[in-house]
Amino acid sequence: MKTNKLCGKCRQPVEKETKLDYPYYCPHCDENLYEFETVQEATRKVIRREIYSAEEAAHSVELYAFMQENGFCDVYDFFQSDPDILRIKNSEVSFTEVDINENTTFVIYNDSEYQATESEIKTMLQRFYSDNFKYYFTKSDCSWSVFRRLVNGIAYRGGKGYHYAIWEHKD
Ligand SMILES: [Zn+2]
Repeated sequence: MKTNKLCGKCRQPVEKETKLDYPYYCPHCDENLYEFETVQEATRKVIRREIYSAEEAAHSVELYAFMQENGFCDVYDFFQSDPDILRIKNSEVSFTEVDINENTTFVIYNDSEYQATESEIKTMLQRFYSDNFKYYFTKSDCSWSVFRRLVNGIAYRGGKGYHYAIWEHKD
C-alpha cells in the first residue's frame, strides 16, 4: 500500500507493513522500519544526489568543507566501515553515501579493478537510485555466495545496520 513516507536511508517510498509489528517496509533496503526511521515525502523534493568517483570527490569543494568539519582526512576514509558493493562485469566496486547536508547526498564509489568504465558504473548507480529501480533490478537471495556469482548486481546496506539487501541487475 502506498504511503506519503520515505525511507530515511535511501529516500525511496516505503510501503505499509501488514504482517509484522512494524508500521513500514522499505523494498529498496528490504527492511522493516519504525516511524522515526522514515521521512515525509515533501522533504524529498530538495534532495540532490551526486554520483562521483573517489578521484572526482577528492576535488569537490563541498566535500572538502564537509571533511574539514567532520574530521575526515581522506576520501578513502569513507570506505572504512562496510561500504555498499556494486558488481559490474564480474568485478566489484565499493560505494558509499555521504550526507553532505540535509539536502545533498554524495554517492562516492571506489573502483580498484577497472573492469568497467566510469560511465558504466555511474549508469548502474543512477539506475539503482532512480524511482523505478525495480525496472532494472530484481531482488535476489540474501547470500554472499549468490551475490559473488552475479555479473551485475548490488549489495546495499545504505551505511546502516548489518543487513545487506542483494539486487541482481536484469540484463
Ligand atoms: Zn530504504
